[in-house]
Amino acid sequence: MDLQIRGKTALVTGASKGIGKAIALDLAREGVRVLVCARSQNALDEVIAESKAAGHEYQMSGFVCDLSDRSSRETLISQIRESGHVVSILVHNVGGPSPTSVMDTHMAAWAQGFDQLFQSVVHLNQAFVPDMQEAKWGRILCVTSISVLEPIAGLAVSNSIRSATTAMLKTLSDELAPYGITVNCVAPGTIATDRLNNLMQARMQKSGQTQAEYEAEYLKAIPMGRLGTPQEFSAVAVFLASGPASYVTGSTITLDGGKRRSTY
Ligand code: NAD
Repeated sequence: MDLQIRGKTALVTGASKGIGKAIALDLAREGVRVLVCARSQNALDEVIAESKAAGHEYQMSGFVCDLSDRSSRETLISQIRESGHVVSILVHNVGGPSPTSVMDTHMAAWAQGFDQLFQSVVHLNQAFVPDMQEAKWGRILCVTSISVLEPIAGLAVSNSIRSATTAMLKTLSDELAPYGITVNCVAPGTIATDRLNNLMQARMQKSGQTQAEYEAEYLKAIPMGRLGTPQEFSAVAVFLASGPASYVTGSTITLDGGKRRSTY
C-alpha cells in the first residue's frame, strides 16, 4: 500500500525510546522527514544515528524539550519554526505519571500531570495545526492508554487526565474534519517497554509475587498470551498517519492483545 506520506514532515515527541522511538523510526522508513523530541540530547542522538544507519532518506532532526514545561515547549516551537519545517504529522507522546492513588496524589502532581499529558497537547496543536489547516491536510495522533477505557488501579493521574485529553481531542476532531485533518488516539495497554516493565516491577513488589508468578498471572489476562512490541504499535500509528487513513478520525484505537474487556 502506498502510504502517501513520503516527503511530509512529522514531529514525534517523547521519541527517545519505547513507543515514540518506534513510531519515529517507522515514519522515517516510509520517507517522512522526522523531527524527534525528548529531554536528553544524547538519547536523541542515538535515535538519529539508528535512523542514519538504517539508510533512511532524510536525516532526523532532534530537539531537546521537557514537554511538562511551558517555556521549554515555547523553545521547541520557535526552534522548529526557525528551522523552516512545516509539520503536517504531529505525534504526541510523553512519559506516564508515577503510580499513585487518588487520595495520595499531591496537588502538585495533579498539576504536573495536567501540564505533561494535557497542556502539552493543546500547546503543540495550537502551534502547528494552523499550517495543516492552510494545507488542508494533517494527521494528529496522541499516544494515550487503555486506562481511558478501563481505569487501571493505582494510576490516578494517568486515568483521569488522559481521559480529559481524549475528550478534548474528540472535540478537536470535529473542528478539524472540514480541513482534511484527522485526530486520533492510539491507546497502548501491554506493550513491552521500560514504562511497562517499571509498572510491573512496582506491582510485583507490592504483591510480594515473584517475577515468574506475576508474569504468568499478567499474561493469562491477555488473549494473545504475550506482550506486544513497540513495532506492532507503530505499524498501526503509521497507518493512522497515512493518506489512506483519511476517514478515521475522532477514534481511540487500542493495542492490548485483546486484554480490554469492554466492547468499544
Ligand atoms: P517510555 O517511558 O518507555 O517512553 C517515554 C518517552 O517519553 C521516552 O522517550 C522519554 O524520554 C519521553 N519523555 C518522558 N517524559 C518526557 C517529558 N517530560 N518531555 C519530553 N519527553 C519525555 O513509555 P512507553 O511505554 O513507550 O509509552 C509511551 C506512553 O504510553 C507513555 O505515556 C505511557 O505511560 C503510555 N502507556 C504505555 C503503555 C505500554 O504498554 N507500554 C500502556 C499504557 C500507557
